[in-house]
Amino acid sequence: MSTEKRKVAILGSTGSIGTQALEVIAQQKEFFQVEVLTAQNNADLLIEQSKLFRPNAVVIGDSEKYQSVKDELWNLDIKVFCGAEALCQVVESTEIDIVLTALVGFAGLQPTLKAIEAGKQIALANKETMVVAGEMVTKLAREKGVNILPVDSEHSAIFQCLAGEWSNPIEKIYLTASGGPFRGKTKDEMFNVTRDQALKHPNWSMGSKITIDSASMMNKGLEVIEAKWLFHLDASQIDIIVHPQSIIHSIVQFQDGSMKAQMGLPDMKLPIQYALGYPKRLQSSFPRFDFASYSQLTFEAPDPEVFPCWPLAFEALKKGGNLSCVLNAANEVAVDLFLKDHIRFVQIPELIEGAMSSVKHIVTPDLSDLLSSDLEAREWVRSNS
Ligand code: NAD
Ligand code: MG
Repeated sequence: MSTEKRKVAILGSTGSIGTQALEVIAQQKEFFQVEVLTAQNNADLLIEQSKLFRPNAVVIGDSEKYQSVKDELWNLDIKVFCGAEALCQVVESTEIDIVLTALVGFAGLQPTLKAIEAGKQIALANKETMVVAGEMVTKLAREKGVNILPVDSEHSAIFQCLAGEWSNPIEKIYLTASGGPFRGKTKDEMFNVTRDQALKHPNWSMGSKITIDSASMMNKGLEVIEAKWLFHLDASQIDIIVHPQSIIHSIVQFQDGSMKAQMGLPDMKLPIQYALGYPKRLQSSFPRFDFASYSQLTFEAPDPEVFPCWPLAFEALKKGGNLSCVLNAANEVAVDLFLKDHIRFVQIPELIEGAMSSVKHIVTPDLSDLLSSDLEAREWVRSNS
């Protein structure tokens, strides 16, 4: 890495990935400088982070919080903006080298597109962007010569396994899944699972949306779609394998049958740091894996009956067009309804499947088609739940 500090914009700095990214940056001050921080609602934390990291600009999504953020930061020479539009504008600043998309959901799409258009490197945590518009995003990134560096641990693992293998075709990849809190349950047992049970992930501490996605295994479905676009694969080249210890983060199999895996303790700071520092591995003090504490690493096939969400993602991939966008929007609304105790856990896949068969299929959607498919799918789920 050059001696110049890499200037980082963190979209969603108050979330699980955002706060861990700031922990990484605090440990690596000689390499990184925070240029932009953004949050949707948590003004207090955004203010606290801004006082500590002194970005050039911040964006608060909630307009009601704008004045209080501005009042707190005006004398620190930090520009304060508000709303979704500002998010799209702030990423274009010439000062930024790399944008970490650590915000959740469809809201990540437009700022990511704007950042790529402006030629910024992307450290991609916001997998929903790839699910909704993977083809469009990867095409634009190619045109603009922009790297999309995966932060999702599985994709970071694959990316790390591919170092030095650029001319060797991939035969297959295996995305590992912890199986979540409901691994081993029967279909009948899933009927009564609660919000609190779903929010207790065995290995990772994450935002509530991805935690529910992990419990339903939709997270792995979204990751299958994300992997297709990041690594230019066909759906038939992607497999899911349940690995409850979450030590092997994913595996690439090459044409000679050789398999490379990347492993380590489950800690998102590692893939975050790898993406921000790429291509350099920076020294870290993260806890190291200890073989004596893990007498075995185990693997099992995912169950499509108990977890119908991930097969829906494969279906969306195979049918293509706007279907992954529909799946994503339906999932976002269904997860939100489940978190508000309005629907049962088992209704999540039912509603997604319903939206996928009801919203008009568009084979080659443009951005405005994706925006309208997203709205249509959201509306369908709301009015059928
Ligand atoms: P989170 O809910 O903890 O944080 C989300 C952040 O985005 C917050 O800062 C919030 O203020 C902001 N935000 C929320 N809604 C927004 C909106 N509409 N517009 C603008 N900003 C908004 O989520 P997280 O767990 O940190 O996940 C962030 C992204 O990273 C997700 O796409 C998730 O799938 C992905 N990811 C997370 C993890 C993890 O360990 N948490 C792992 C892999 C991938
Ligand atoms: Mg992941």
